[in-house]
Amino acid sequence: MVLFDTVTKRYKEDITALEDVNFNIEEGEFCFVVGPSGAGKSTIMRLLIREEIPTSGSIFFRDIEVPKLTRRLLPAYRQKLGVVFQDIKLLQSKTLEENIAFALEILDKSPKEIVDTTDYLLDLVGLRERRTLFPDELSGGEQQRGAIARALANKPDLFIADEPTGNLDQQNAEQILEILKTINATGTTVMVISHDFHLVNGSKARTIKIVNGRLEEDSGKSIGPKKEVKEKEVVKEEKKEKKEVHPEFNSLSDTLKEKFLKFAINSPEILLNITAGDLKNMNLSKEEHKELETFVKNYLSKNTKNA
Ligand code: ADP
Repeated sequence: MVLFDTVTKRYKEDITALEDVNFNIEEGEFCFVVGPSGAGKSTIMRLLIREEIPTSGSIFFRDIEVPKLTRRLLPAYRQKLGVVFQDIKLLQSKTLEENIAFALEILDKSPKEIVDTTDYLLDLVGLRERRTLFPDELSGGEQQRGAIARALANKPDLFIADEPTGNLDQQNAEQILEILKTINATGTTVMVISHDFHLVNGSKARTIKIVNGRLEEDSGKSIGPKKEVKEKEVVKEEKKEKKEVHPEFNSLSDTLKEKFLKFAINSPEILLNITAGDLKNMNLSKEEHKELETFVKNYLSKNTKNA
């Protein structure tokens, strides 16, 4: 499902974050990526979600050659992924259940489906009775479980968690691990980036160890054959992409609309898939940044009222 083929990533001439890294992850696997801080673990995730591109080598997600994805195809690609970061959690202005429901609303789910899926996800992470609380009323572990529930709303094929147990005590960390295993048991491929050796050693799962940017150890399978890029498939998908601005964006300034077009943001839903790195790439002016913030705020409150 995921193939890293001789991947090297240099951020600058003298900063080599990864060097000649090879591994593959099969459909349905549960896999840890471990290593000391600064080893290059998060770079693997940033390459996989295509926030960064490799300096050399390539990365495949099924038949998709990830570094070759155009901006236009990125949103559709990222919808196949569920991502949880250590420090980006829930929207502070919404309750836990609103956070999950919102992720479903922007996927255009029916009201019944939103209620049913929100209930299911709250149960999955053991937070049904905390549903009406705001993030700052939840413990660190509960917030992280809430973020996991929200990231599962789009039924991802691959779930990636970057240090999901960082800053948590052992009991909370183990609870998170149990949830990730349950997610895996339902068929989702799970990749967990962690420097928590205690957690990883206790679990016996496939472990890829990165040290100083190099793959030092892989307890799992050998590397599969190189895949050929299915150019045709990429072109076909690209043709399906919309080229006009979404009606929700009509009130925005022309410069911001232009940037949305350039970066293939063709619905409010896509704004949820944008990473901090993408925002940096968009190079927004102060005014555009403010405009975007106001738009998201208004959009959120509109959707909360409708819910
Ligand atoms: P880990 O997740 O294992 O802590 P990272 O992948 O975040 O490691 O970082 C690997 C190396 O790359 C580190 O030396 C880090 O300082 C460097 N690095 C990461 N991101 C950048 C960046 N945007 N620019 C320059 N260097 C970076």
